[in-house]
Amino acid sequence: MPETIFSKIIDRTVPAKIVFEDDLCLAFHDISPQAPVHVLVIPKKPIESLAHASGDDAGLLGHLLSTASQIARDLGLAEGYRVVINTGSEGGQSVDHLHLHLLGGRSLSWPPG
Ligand code: 5GP
Repeated sequence: MPETIFSKIIDRTVPAKIVFEDDLCLAFHDISPQAPVHVLVIPKKPIESLAHASGDDAGLLGHLLSTASQIARDLGLAEGYRVVINTGSEGGQSVDHLHLHLLGGRSLSWPPG
């Protein structure tokens, strides 16, 4: 997989405001927040998108979700939040490294655009 801005954040050649890290994933504040809390949770494994994840990645995908839930608790999103995975060009994905958006801190409308 080609290098992306997120792989550079993982290897610390690009700075980011990191909120959580473990062996499998990294979470950091989005550079262009769409809500008072807007955190990206990414796997360290370079998976291009959700569509590129395989059955072998099921545990990792679960870990990303539970990490997002833990970060939401840590950041005090007691009233709720949204987790979004934009996938592919029609899904609005702009960085080709799988990522979960964790959005909260305001009331979020539905459906999305
Ligand atoms: P996508 O559109 O692919 O679902 O989401 C990519 C997200 O990455 C966008 O919300 C965008 O603001 C964020 N982003 C792009 N470049 C950077 C960067 O260099 N640093 C951080 N922290 N976020 C970035």
